[in-house]
Amino acid sequence: MNISTVVQRLKSIRIRRIKKGYCPCCERKTLFVAIGYWLRDDYRCIRCRSIPRQRALMKVLKERVPDYNKVNIHESSPSGVLFNKFKGNENYTFSYYWKDRPLGTVVEETGACNQNLENMTFEDEKFDVFITQDVLEHIYNPVAAFCEIGRVLKQGGIHIFTVPLYPFIKTRPRIKIEAGGEIKEIIPAIYHGDPINSKGCLVTWDWGGDIAEYIYQASGMRTEIIEFPNNKENFRNGLEGDFLYVCVSSK
Ligand SMILES: [Zn+2]
Repeated sequence: MNISTVVQRLKSIRIRRIKKGYCPCCERKTLFVAIGYWLRDDYRCIRCRSIPRQRALMKVLKERVPDYNKVNIHESSPSGVLFNKFKGNENYTFSYYWKDRPLGTVVEETGACNQNLENMTFEDEKFDVFITQDVLEHIYNPVAAFCEIGRVLKQGGIHIFTVPLYPFIKTRPRIKIEAGGEIKEIIPAIYHGDPINSKGCLVTWDWGGDIAEYIYQASGMRTEIIEFPNNKENFRNGLEGDFLYVCVSSK
Protein backbone atom coordinates (compact mmCIF):
# COMPACT_ATOMS: atom_id res chain seq x y z
CA MET A 1 0.00 0.00 0.00
CA ASN A 2 1.55 3.35 -0.96
CA ILE A 3 1.38 6.46 1.18
CA SER A 4 -1.38 8.18 -0.83
CA THR A 5 -3.64 5.10 -0.41
CA VAL A 6 -2.98 5.23 3.34
CA VAL A 7 -3.84 8.94 3.39
CA GLN A 8 -7.08 8.29 1.46
CA ARG A 9 -8.12 5.54 3.91
CA LEU A 10 -7.27 7.66 6.93
CA LYS A 11 -9.30 10.55 5.50
CA SER A 12 -12.37 8.32 5.49
CA ILE A 13 -12.32 8.19 9.32
CA ARG A 14 -12.73 11.27 11.48
CA ILE A 15 -9.23 12.61 11.28
CA ARG A 16 -8.63 15.99 12.92
CA ARG A 17 -5.10 16.38 11.67
CA ILE A 18 -2.71 14.48 9.45
CA LYS A 19 0.85 15.43 8.56
CA LYS A 20 3.86 13.80 7.01
CA GLY A 21 7.03 13.96 9.03
CA TYR A 22 9.89 12.23 10.81
CA CYS A 23 9.32 10.63 14.21
CA PRO A 24 12.06 11.17 16.84
CA CYS A 25 10.92 8.01 18.70
CA CYS A 26 10.93 5.37 15.95
CA GLU A 27 13.38 7.38 13.81
CA ARG A 28 11.48 6.85 10.56
CA LYS A 29 9.50 8.86 8.06
CA THR A 30 5.89 8.58 9.11
CA LEU A 31 2.47 10.14 9.26
CA PHE A 32 1.22 11.88 12.38
CA VAL A 33 -2.51 11.47 12.81
CA ALA A 34 -4.96 12.92 15.33
CA ILE A 35 -8.37 11.25 15.69
CA GLY A 36 -9.46 13.52 18.57
CA TYR A 37 -9.00 17.20 19.33
CA TRP A 38 -6.66 16.86 22.30
CA LEU A 39 -3.33 16.62 20.52
CA ARG A 40 -1.39 15.95 23.72
CA ASP A 41 -2.96 12.46 23.87
CA ASP A 42 -4.40 12.02 20.39
CA TYR A 43 -1.70 13.02 17.91
CA ARG A 44 0.04 9.72 17.19
CA CYS A 45 2.80 8.47 14.93
CA ILE A 46 1.14 5.75 12.84
CA ARG A 47 4.26 3.59 13.03
CA CYS A 48 5.15 3.57 16.76
CA ARG A 49 1.98 5.17 18.26
CA SER A 50 4.06 7.80 20.09
CA ILE A 51 2.35 10.97 21.33
CA PRO A 52 3.87 14.49 21.26
CA ARG A 53 5.37 14.52 24.77
CA GLN A 54 7.21 11.25 24.10
CA ARG A 55 8.60 12.59 20.82
CA ALA A 56 9.59 15.82 22.56
CA LEU A 57 11.42 13.99 25.35
CA MET A 58 13.24 11.78 22.87
CA LYS A 59 14.27 14.73 20.75
CA VAL A 60 15.69 16.59 23.76
CA LEU A 61 17.44 13.46 25.07
CA LYS A 62 19.18 12.92 21.71
CA GLU A 63 20.25 16.57 21.55
CA ARG A 64 21.58 16.68 25.12
CA VAL A 65 23.05 13.17 25.32
CA PRO A 66 23.83 11.97 21.78
CA ASP A 67 25.41 8.75 23.12
CA TYR A 68 22.44 8.03 25.40
CA ASN A 69 22.72 4.30 24.57
CA LYS A 70 26.09 4.14 26.28
CA VAL A 71 25.40 6.00 29.54
CA ASN A 72 23.64 4.87 32.71
CA ILE A 73 19.97 5.76 32.45
CA HIS A 74 17.37 5.11 35.10
CA GLU A 75 13.67 5.65 34.57
CA SER A 76 11.05 5.77 37.28
CA SER A 77 7.62 4.31 36.42
CA PRO A 78 8.13 3.91 32.67
CA SER A 79 5.45 2.98 30.17
CA GLY A 80 4.69 3.40 26.50
CA VAL A 81 6.75 3.80 23.39
CA LEU A 82 10.01 5.03 24.91
CA PHE A 83 10.04 2.20 27.44
CA ASN A 84 9.81 -0.29 24.56
CA LYS A 85 12.68 1.52 22.89
CA PHE A 86 14.95 1.74 25.94
CA LYS A 87 14.40 -1.54 27.74
CA GLY A 88 16.75 -3.56 25.53
CA ASN A 89 19.72 -1.28 26.32
CA GLU A 90 22.04 -2.83 28.87
CA ASN A 91 22.70 0.53 30.56
CA TYR A 92 19.00 1.24 31.09
CA THR A 93 17.35 0.29 34.37
CA PHE A 94 13.87 1.08 35.60
CA SER A 95 11.76 0.97 38.72
CA TYR A 96 8.21 1.07 39.99
CA TYR A 97 7.02 1.38 43.55
CA TRP A 98 5.18 -1.49 45.22
CA LYS A 99 4.47 -0.51 48.82
CA ASP A 100 4.11 -4.13 49.97
CA ARG A 101 7.46 -5.42 48.65
CA PRO A 102 11.01 -4.90 49.92
CA LEU A 103 12.70 -1.79 48.54
CA GLY A 104 15.72 -2.25 46.29
CA THR A 105 14.79 -5.75 45.13
CA VAL A 106 14.08 -6.75 41.54
CA VAL A 107 10.47 -7.81 41.07
CA GLU A 108 10.97 -10.91 38.95
CA GLU A 109 7.89 -10.93 36.76
CA THR A 110 8.59 -7.35 35.59
CA GLY A 111 12.39 -7.00 35.62
CA ALA A 112 11.85 -3.73 37.50
CA CYS A 113 13.52 -2.66 40.70
CA ASN A 114 11.20 -1.68 43.57
CA GLN A 115 12.02 1.93 44.42
CA ASN A 116 10.26 4.72 46.23
CA LEU A 117 11.22 7.88 44.35
CA GLU A 118 11.16 9.78 47.66
CA ASN A 119 13.62 7.39 49.31
CA MET A 120 15.67 5.36 46.83
CA THR A 121 18.14 2.64 47.80
CA PHE A 122 20.65 3.51 45.03
CA GLU A 123 24.09 4.77 46.00
CA ASP A 124 24.99 8.43 45.39
CA GLU A 125 25.98 9.56 41.87
CA LYS A 126 25.04 6.36 40.08
CA PHE A 127 23.28 7.63 36.95
CA ASP A 128 24.09 9.95 34.03
CA VAL A 129 20.44 10.43 33.10
CA PHE A 130 17.28 10.06 35.18
CA ILE A 131 13.96 10.02 33.28
CA THR A 132 10.42 10.54 34.50
CA GLN A 133 7.48 10.80 32.10
CA ASP A 134 4.35 12.31 33.66
CA VAL A 135 5.25 10.90 37.08
CA LEU A 136 5.94 13.94 39.27
CA GLU A 137 2.29 14.98 39.41
CA HIS A 138 1.66 11.79 41.44
CA ILE A 139 4.31 12.19 44.16
CA TYR A 140 3.35 12.82 47.79
CA ASN A 141 6.55 14.62 48.77
CA PRO A 142 8.15 16.24 45.69
CA VAL A 143 10.88 17.97 47.75
CA ALA A 144 12.11 14.52 48.81
CA ALA A 145 11.79 13.17 45.25
CA PHE A 146 13.80 16.01 43.63
CA CYS A 147 16.39 15.77 46.40
CA GLU A 148 16.74 12.03 45.80
CA ILE A 149 16.99 12.40 42.01
CA GLY A 150 19.74 14.98 42.57
CA ARG A 151 21.53 12.59 44.93
CA VAL A 152 21.61 9.60 42.55
CA LEU A 153 22.74 11.68 39.52
CA LYS A 154 26.43 11.98 38.73
CA GLN A 155 27.98 15.45 38.63
CA GLY A 156 26.98 16.83 35.23
CA GLY A 157 24.08 14.37 35.01
CA ILE A 158 20.57 15.39 34.02
CA HIS A 159 17.02 14.69 35.06
CA ILE A 160 14.92 14.89 31.92
CA PHE A 161 11.18 14.82 32.42
CA THR A 162 7.70 15.68 31.31
CA VAL A 163 4.87 16.68 33.62
CA PRO A 164 1.56 18.44 32.99
CA LEU A 165 2.76 22.02 33.45
CA TYR A 166 0.44 25.04 33.80
CA PRO A 167 2.74 28.03 33.21
CA PHE A 168 0.28 30.62 34.54
CA ILE A 169 -0.38 29.09 37.96
CA LYS A 170 1.76 28.70 41.07
CA THR A 171 2.61 25.11 41.98
CA ARG A 172 0.03 23.72 44.40
CA PRO A 173 -0.68 20.45 46.22
CA ARG A 174 -4.03 18.80 45.44
CA ILE A 175 -3.97 16.74 48.64
CA LYS A 176 -2.96 17.04 52.26
CA ILE A 177 -1.63 14.19 54.39
CA GLU A 178 -3.18 14.22 57.85
CA ALA A 179 -1.29 13.35 61.03
CA GLY A 180 -2.63 9.76 60.93
CA GLY A 181 -1.40 9.32 57.33
CA GLU A 182 -4.87 9.79 55.87
CA ILE A 183 -5.04 11.56 52.50
CA LYS A 184 -7.40 14.51 52.33
CA GLU A 185 -8.35 16.17 49.05
CA ILE A 186 -7.78 19.91 48.80
CA ILE A 187 -8.86 19.94 45.14
CA PRO A 188 -11.34 17.28 43.85
CA ALA A 189 -9.45 14.09 42.98
CA ILE A 190 -8.45 13.19 39.44
CA TYR A 191 -6.63 10.04 38.34
CA HIS A 192 -4.30 9.22 35.47
CA GLY A 193 -3.56 5.80 33.94
CA ASP A 194 -1.05 3.70 35.89
CA PRO A 195 1.03 0.91 34.32
CA ILE A 196 0.95 -1.20 37.51
CA ASN A 197 -2.47 -0.33 38.96
CA SER A 198 -5.70 -0.61 37.00
CA LYS A 199 -7.47 1.81 39.39
CA GLY A 200 -5.23 4.62 38.14
CA CYS A 201 -2.95 6.95 40.00
CA LEU A 202 -4.09 9.97 42.01
CA VAL A 203 -2.83 13.36 40.83
CA THR A 204 -1.29 14.94 43.92
CA TRP A 205 0.31 18.14 42.60
CA ASP A 206 -0.40 20.76 39.92
CA TRP A 207 2.89 22.09 38.60
CA GLY A 208 3.10 25.77 37.68
CA GLY A 209 5.49 28.23 36.11
CA ASP A 210 7.56 28.28 39.32
CA ILE A 211 8.64 24.61 38.93
CA ALA A 212 12.30 25.53 38.27
CA GLU A 213 12.46 27.54 41.49
CA TYR A 214 10.79 24.69 43.40
CA ILE A 215 13.38 22.18 42.12
CA TYR A 216 16.26 24.53 42.90
CA GLN A 217 15.05 24.96 46.49
CA ALA A 218 14.61 21.19 46.85
CA SER A 219 17.78 19.92 45.19
CA GLY A 220 20.07 22.76 44.11
CA MET A 221 19.61 21.66 40.46
CA ARG A 222 19.03 24.27 37.74
CA THR A 223 16.07 23.50 35.49
CA GLU A 224 15.47 24.56 31.94
CA ILE A 225 11.94 24.43 30.54
CA ILE A 226 12.05 23.64 26.83
CA GLU A 227 9.12 24.67 24.65
CA PHE A 228 8.28 23.60 21.11
CA PRO A 229 7.05 26.65 19.23
CA ASN A 230 5.11 26.37 16.00
CA ASN A 231 7.76 26.08 13.31
CA LYS A 232 8.59 23.84 10.37
CA GLU A 233 11.04 21.61 12.23
CA ASN A 234 8.70 20.96 15.17
CA PHE A 235 5.76 20.28 12.84
CA ARG A 236 7.93 17.80 10.94
CA ASN A 237 8.67 15.99 14.22
CA GLY A 238 4.98 15.87 15.20
CA LEU A 239 5.59 18.31 18.07
CA GLU A 240 2.27 20.06 18.42
CA GLY A 241 -0.25 20.21 21.23
CA ASP A 242 -1.01 21.97 24.48
CA PHE A 243 1.25 21.71 27.53
CA LEU A 244 4.13 20.47 25.41
CA TYR A 245 7.23 21.05 27.50
CA VAL A 246 10.31 19.06 28.42
CA CYS A 247 12.19 19.98 31.60
CA VAL A 248 15.89 19.34 32.05
CA SER A 249 17.44 19.70 35.52
CA SER A 250 21.23 19.65 35.63
CA LYS A 251 23.41 18.62 38.56
ZN1 LIG B 1 7.16 6.89 15.56
